[in-house]
Amino acid sequence: MNFHVLTLFPEMILQGMNTSITGRAIAKGLLSLEAVNIRDFAFNKHQKVDDYPYGGGAGMLMQAEPVYLAYASIAERIGKKPRVVYLTPQGKVFNQEMARELALEEDLVFLCGHYEGIDERVLEEIVTDQVSIGDYVLTGGELPAMVMMDSISRMVPGVLNNQESGETESFAGNLLEYPQYSRPEEWHGKKVPEVLLSGHHENVAKWRREQSILRTLKNRPDLLKKADLTNKEWNYVRQLKKQWKEEEESL
Ligand code: SAM
Repeated sequence: MNFHVLTLFPEMILQGMNTSITGRAIAKGLLSLEAVNIRDFAFNKHQKVDDYPYGGGAGMLMQAEPVYLAYASIAERIGKKPRVVYLTPQGKVFNQEMARELALEEDLVFLCGHYEGIDERVLEEIVTDQVSIGDYVLTGGELPAMVMMDSISRMVPGVLNNQESGETESFAGNLLEYPQYSRPEEWHGKKVPEVLLSGHHENVAKWRREQSILRTLKNRPDLLKKADLTNKEWNYVRQLKKQWKEEEESL
């Protein structure tokens, strides 16, 4: 997987991504990362990349030409028109399914906006996907690009030490992950659930599955609707809902 980031702040991308698990994966050659400075493609006296928006309004806009030339330098080097993700609060909201799908690409370009955004004409010309990381506005696309690259990286074989941990965690099968505990067995008077100490693998798996369903029902009922549960498990959901309703009514 080769990540190419078009940005005005390459050092932010390089420092963030060359750390921890993604840093190790880059060092091992499982991922490659380049941060292309859009300013290097502003061929004017002060390497200016922004200007006032036509029609007035607050703030400055990144101009089309430096963004286009920075993109073209990547496309020319890799010899193809790559998929280009523009990070924008106006895009489709990022999720695990999108991460899985994007991880199948060999090259991904991330275009980070700043100020009030980017001239629409260059977006029309080079962008294939518009993606948001949530319904809030940030100052730039660098953090969203890092969020996306981090989660996409986890889908690349070899990046996680234990590949299994990527398959059983939250959102796999539209369920959230079960609660987890480590040593000591008792902390601040709270004990680790007995079943986890039993060594009985089948019971542990059953308890974890139930906890996943319970947690998803509590925190993300929207996800649970899409989960693939057995009839017995749907009965468990109905039973939980009934129990919670009764508890609420008795208050
Ligand atoms: N004027 C734009 C609007 O209202 O849609 C917002 C521009 S924002 C201040 C500057 C840049 O930050 C955007 O071009 C985008 O690259 C990035 N950005 C901000 N919020 C984002 C979000 N929730 N998801 C992805 N990118 C975001």
